Amino acid sequence: MYILTREEEDLVQSYNHNWDQENLSFLKKRIKRALINDPIKDEICYYCKSPIDTGTTPGDIEHIIHKSTYTLFSFVPRNLTLACDRCNTSKGAKDVLLQSLPSTYAVNNYPMNSRDYKIVHAHIDRYEDFIKIQNYIFFVGIDQYDKGVNTIKYCSLNRLDLALSKIKQVKNCFGIANSVKNILKAKGNRIQQILTEIEHQLSRSSREEMFKSIVDINKEESAIIITNHLEKIDNLTTHLTRKNIEVYKRFLTAFSVMKNYYDFVTYLNSLSMLIPQLIPYNLEKVCRVPGKLMLNKNGIVELEIILNTQTLKYLQKTSKIKLLDHINHLKADDLTELNFILNNMDIIISVINIIRLIFNDQIIIRHLPGLDAVIVRKLREDVQNVYKYASFNPQIVIMHNLEYYYHEIFTGMDRDLFNNSKKLAGQIDAIIK
Ligand SMILES: [Zn+2]
Repeated sequence: MYILTREEEDLVQSYNHNWDQENLSFLKKRIKRALINDPIKDEICYYCKSPIDTGTTPGDIEHIIHKSTYTLFSFVPRNLTLACDRCNTSKGAKDVLLQSLPSTYAVNNYPMNSRDYKIVHAHIDRYEDFIKIQNYIFFVGIDQYDKGVNTIKYCSLNRLDLALSKIKQVKNCFGIANSVKNILKAKGNRIQQILTEIEHQLSRSSREEMFKSIVDINKEESAIIITNHLEKIDNLTTHLTRKNIEVYKRFLTAFSVMKNYYDFVTYLNSLSMLIPQLIPYNLEKVCRVPGKLMLNKNGIVELEIILNTQTLKYLQKTSKIKLLDHINHLKADDLTELNFILNNMDIIISVINIIRLIFNDQIIIRHLPGLDAVIVRKLREDVQNVYKYASFNPQIVIMHNLEYYYHEIFTGMDRDLFNNSKKLAGQIDAIIK
């Protein structure tokens, strides 16, 4: 922790504790250097424990109590620690005090009790009393006041890039093997340099259990990669919700009915002389768009009655027979789903679009069915393992959904049926619109 000299304190005060004041940047540099060289604290982000130089992003000075809310604490040494950019950004200007200070607070009113804070405090608390890092990857809050949980939430410590960065850090340790190889090739001074490098790597993190857990986590990597891709797809268009997938499935189930219906509607609308004559009959719940006639279940029944009881001009006998034939054909089908599907055509189209994107994604295609049952089984286990950490990480939620997607979309998805349903839904949608 850097202790300000009397002169520095006066200078800070003369600039109203303004952290962004140009003339105080020399002081910021001193503070940062002191934090980096702190013999008690490592050169790591206080929150996510990533090395400041190799973490998810380079680090900087972090204000525990945000400087925008409590400007007077901007240069208070106890309020400053090191954090990586990602944790810092995520934490933002969130209020970390359990109770706000009165507006009359002074620079020496800095709260000093652990219970004054909603999150773990770098200079007041012992991190490990509040947060446990499970398997070197997952952050878990363990204290009764939820300070750990809050810190994880505020700094997004269960973010995916952090987990991947931790995996990478340990993977780098495997680089020792390369260093050893290099010794065999190297000469003179170079050997000493390599030995120092190996020593450094070994002292950093070479514990056996860490390797083991990383190997375990690595098995989940395929799930993580797919999740990232699914998320991209998810973001591209309407969300792939369970409810929407159910709607699409109903459309697939009623596919042959919808096909018959499309043929009927197309034929009906091709009889251009008939349409204007039908308008006065005010077919119940007729769905009519300019120049086109869409009938729902009730409309179809009423049209049949009209055709059988009324004389309609310009309707050739053959056309009438063909039309009644279509209706008969339709009536043999279960039309209960018809109205539902017609009313939800936009959802069906959006789900089809997402599935199309998924089918076009090479990474997903590589990992998903009916490609390798072993990978899929593994994925399912991964999903179960990771889901307990999902509360703050939407990507893990998607990963959890993966099993559902797998079963509902990919398993047994007939490409021909999918392509036909895509075509049909587009055609029906074009008529509705
Ligand atoms: Zn961090």
